[in-house]
Amino acid sequence: MIAAAVPMRRMALVTALRADGIADERVLAAIAAVPREQFVPRQLYHQAYEDFALEIGEGQTISQPSVVARMTALAAVGPRDRVLEIGAGSGYQAAILAELARFVFAVERIPALAEGARARLASLGYRNVSVQVMDGTLGWRAQAPFDAIVVSAGAPAVPAALAEQLVDGGRLVIPVGGIGRQELRRVVRRGDRLDETVHGPASFVPLIGRGGFPEGA
Ligand code: SAH
Repeated sequence: MIAAAVPMRRMALVTALRADGIADERVLAAIAAVPREQFVPRQLYHQAYEDFALEIGEGQTISQPSVVARMTALAAVGPRDRVLEIGAGSGYQAAILAELARFVFAVERIPALAEGARARLASLGYRNVSVQVMDGTLGWRAQAPFDAIVVSAGAPAVPAALAEQLVDGGRLVIPVGGIGRQELRRVVRRGDRLDETVHGPASFVPLIGRGGFPEGA
């Protein structure tokens, strides 16, 4: 893909997402602003603006743009929000969140991926993202509570620690189900109550850790 074609392809993706029912203009503007081609391996550049997940190494994938858009819209991120992302991978979803939030705390369990995400986000000039290596199923207690939490890997159930780390009115967006196939859930904390809604199918790599699937899943 020649460099000049990149902005056009990115705008075509935004048009396709809008046609697909993504109506949140702030989310669409974030997709329009983030150069997804910088988050995929060089040999996949030409596919960076197709609406599918792509391999990023270590057996992991960068999520499909339409799924990133849906999850970000469900997280309802505002400009003053502090957001936790679990499963930073390439850093693409973290960049989208960083376009919308005050600060993004992103965690990743595979050190090589965390390092790559950190380097990419820094070179693109994002100063409001911190990428750390840790088991995100336990949340990030030292930085809690969060206005929104986005989980970018499929969980067997909603990890209790994550719901606990939401502010009152905070949103947790998480794919829940089996290996390879989940449904998107949105959990909103209202006082001591957790309101849960379901938002269609998703297919993520597994969330592995103490509050997720066992290693090797
Ligand atoms: N948001 C990423 C998608 C990455 S795929 C992007 O935009 O590119 C999901 C990621 O979750 C993988 O990199 C995987 O290593 C990571 N992951 C799985 N379990 C995790 C856990 N318990 N804590 C942190 N990261 C985890």
